[in-house]
Parts: sequence; structure tokens; C-alpha cells
Amino acid sequence: MLKQLSWLILLLEVVELSYILPVSKPSEGASGFTGIWRSFKPVIDVGKCRKCLLCWLYCPEAAIKRVGDDYMSVEVDYRYCKGCGICANECPFKAIIMVKEG
Ligand code: SF4
Ligand code: SF4
Repeated sequence: MLKQLSWLILLLEVVELSYILPVSKPSEGASGFTGIWRSFKPVIDVGKCRKCLLCWLYCPEAAIKRVGDDYMSVEVDYRYCKGCGICANECPFKAIIMVKEG
């Protein structure tokens, strides 16, 4: 049910972004490589992940990648992740925790 709901949200957002609102979409690397200033990074607990893709949907840096045979698993591209914590905040299954760098 949650997976279907997230796909419905995704579809609505795509339609909205494409045809209604003149806003830009996040794209990989749009704000460049993160470098070494990030203080926290998201870590995904694959055992808790239910593949709802909300983290992928909400990441403003497009730093979460869909991977696996079905492209329903997720992993973080730390080259672009800014450590904002939005993905951890949005994950309904608490499968992402923010860990201090270093
Ligand atoms: S911490 Fe922010 S930038 Fe990094 S993957 Fe999560 S939502 Fe994207
Ligand atoms: S980490 Fe959380 S938000 Fe991301 S796909 Fe898995 S369950 Fe969904």
C-alpha cells in the first residue's frame, strides 16, 4: 500500500513539475561535489529499508541512487550528498540514520 502511495505521489509530482509549476528539478551534481565540509552523512540500514523510494524522491541533490535488478533499492552517492538529513527525516521506516563524519 505504501509503495503504491509513493508511486502515486511520484506520478503527481512529475505531472505537476512538468506541466504546472515552472520550477527546476534537482539533478545530480547541480551544486557540485560536496568536498570535505559535510559534518553528517546518511547511512541506510538495508534490513529496515522497505523500498518505498521516498528518500530518492525527496533528496534535493539527487544523491540517492536507485540500484538493483528492479531499481527499487537505494544507495547514497556521497560525492554529491550534502548531509542535509531530509532523506532520514522523510523515511517512514527509520531506515536512514545520520552519522557524524570522521
Ligand atoms: S542527506 Fe540530503 S543530500 Fe544527502 S542523500 Fe539525504 S537528502 Fe540527499
Ligand atoms: S531508505 Fe527509507 S525512504 Fe528510502 S527507500 Fe528505504 S524505506 Fe523508503
